[in-house]
Amino acid sequence: MIETPQQRRIVDNWRQVVQDVSEAASKHDRDPEAVRIIAVTKYVDTETTAIVARAGCRDLAESRPQQLWKKAEDPDFPEGVNWHLIGHLQRNKVRRTLRHCQLIHSVDSSRLLQAIEEQARSGEQQVSILLEVNASGEDAKTGLPPGEIAAIIEQHRSEYVRLIGLMAMAGWGTNPEQARQQFAAVRELRDDLQQRSGMELPELSMGMSGDFREAIAEGSTMVRIGTRLFEGVLSD
Ligand SMILES: *Cc1c(COP(=O)(O)O)cnc(C)c1O
Repeated sequence: MIETPQQRRIVDNWRQVVQDVSEAASKHDRDPEAVRIIAVTKYVDTETTAIVARAGCRDLAESRPQQLWKKAEDPDFPEGVNWHLIGHLQRNKVRRTLRHCQLIHSVDSSRLLQAIEEQARSGEQQVSILLEVNASGEDAKTGLPPGEIAAIIEQHRSEYVRLIGLMAMAGWGTNPEQARQQFAAVRELRDDLQQRSGMELPELSMGMSGDFREAIAEGSTMVRIGTRLFEGVLSD
């Protein structure tokens, strides 16, 4: 197959991201293997998303359920990919999303959690989820206030839905130091919730193209990288 300049650029970007993430992990005495890179493909079409998968990235994320369905249901799409949903999920889209999605990062209400639980139970299907925390306290941001998370975790007992951690975004326009403080607060919240509930919450989905280093410094186990992967490919 002839490689196009666009393909070459994406492969190069992917390798560079792998290296940058690995360096950030080592710098903070963490095992690079303990930080999973999730490619956020919401900016590009199905064909370009397939290039990312072929470059070796097995974890792909979309913000919109419909986009995730479209790509995951494309018969020509490479096999063996884990799909992640990182944006708002409406309850009427739970069923079709669960067919494809390995991990839902963006569970932002107990009603949504309940809808996922009902669907998983009726399909006798295991699902993993993260609770999305509002880490910055801004009105415009999505996510649960830290205070509500404890109650959800206390009440959560499910055979089908595994609650494995937290997801967060730094506030809009925060500088690296502020972002790092917000990520540290999310980790502390997780530590506190684990201790109080006795439930294991190993996963922290934190960090994007602009702040993955700060997130890794504070214990992120999944970084969600979009823009950085498509540098030189997207027109701006
Ligand atoms: C778009 C998006 C990302 C990726 O952000 P980049 O800055 O493009 O790397 C990560 N997480 C969420 C929730 C997003 O919506």
